[in-house]
Amino acid sequence: MYIDPHAHMVSRTTDDYEAMAASGVVALVEPAFWVGQPRTFVGTYVDYLSSLVGWERFRAGQFGIRHYCTVGLNSKEANNEALAEGVMEWLPRFAMKEGVVAIGEIGYDEQTPLEDKYFRAQLALAVELSLPVMVHTPHRDKKRGTSRSMDVCEEMGLDPSWVVIDHNNEETVRETLDRGYYAGFSIYPSTKMGNARMVELLAQYGGERIIVDSACDWGISDCLGVAKTAHLALARGIDPEVVRQVTYANALAVYGKSGQMNEADWLDPPAVDQRTLFAGNSILRGGREPRIDAAPARRDDLIIE
Ligand SMILES: [Zn+2]
Repeated sequence: MYIDPHAHMVSRTTDDYEAMAASGVVALVEPAFWVGQPRTFVGTYVDYLSSLVGWERFRAGQFGIRHYCTVGLNSKEANNEALAEGVMEWLPRFAMKEGVVAIGEIGYDEQTPLEDKYFRAQLALAVELSLPVMVHTPHRDKKRGTSRSMDVCEEMGLDPSWVVIDHNNEETVRETLDRGYYAGFSIYPSTKMGNARMVELLAQYGGERIIVDSACDWGISDCLGVAKTAHLALARGIDPEVVRQVTYANALAVYGKSGQMNEADWLDPPAVDQRTLFAGNSILRGGREPRIDAAPARRDDLIIE
């Protein structure tokens, strides 16, 4: 059983849901983020958040996967002040909805003053609502941006054990763990962190507070990143308990603090019935039998480079 605690499923196909379920993913967390181009209306953003707690949650359930999400104003769009102000007004309402396990992904992109302003405002909201936080760390100037993200979390009164610092690498992981945060790793093919590098880190650091995710989105990414990393780690002799921690238990421990994510949700799941409708819509298309033959997990290409 795996949890993929960072998956942008609005960008993924039904084949991906099938493959993830067949690989052993029982639950996932979909963080609110930007969608590849800037939104120009607050309403567009609100509808996006609605889809995370509504349609996408339903769609995952149709493939036997429990869907949770985080809500937040991402760092890129924090630089559009009019949009940001509008989104901030809506956020508390969404943060209280069923299945919302954190405020996120929030943090820095270019580390501008506006990004800082809305990062802090959302950290304050997380404290007020007793919700965990998922922090997106910048791709440029990553080491400094990651340190600064943790500094600001502490200034705003966050308990590090309620915060996941995501998109770590070899340069940032030591500090993230030493300061008491959860350290997320997004396994990407071709760039950033592949799973062979991840397995090396597990050999070095063990599994405490480390979380592996696929971060699958609209770009080149692999929705089976969690399962493939687990298989590769086991094949390379990593303790099965460490593998369980980083691909399942740690994500449950931190996002479970929200009170919205419980093991019983997938150990005792509702039956998949693809005839079910959401707002009058189903995932079926004309003539399709409402049953799915789960494809076997694609385990032939374990290494993500
Ligand atoms: Zn993301």
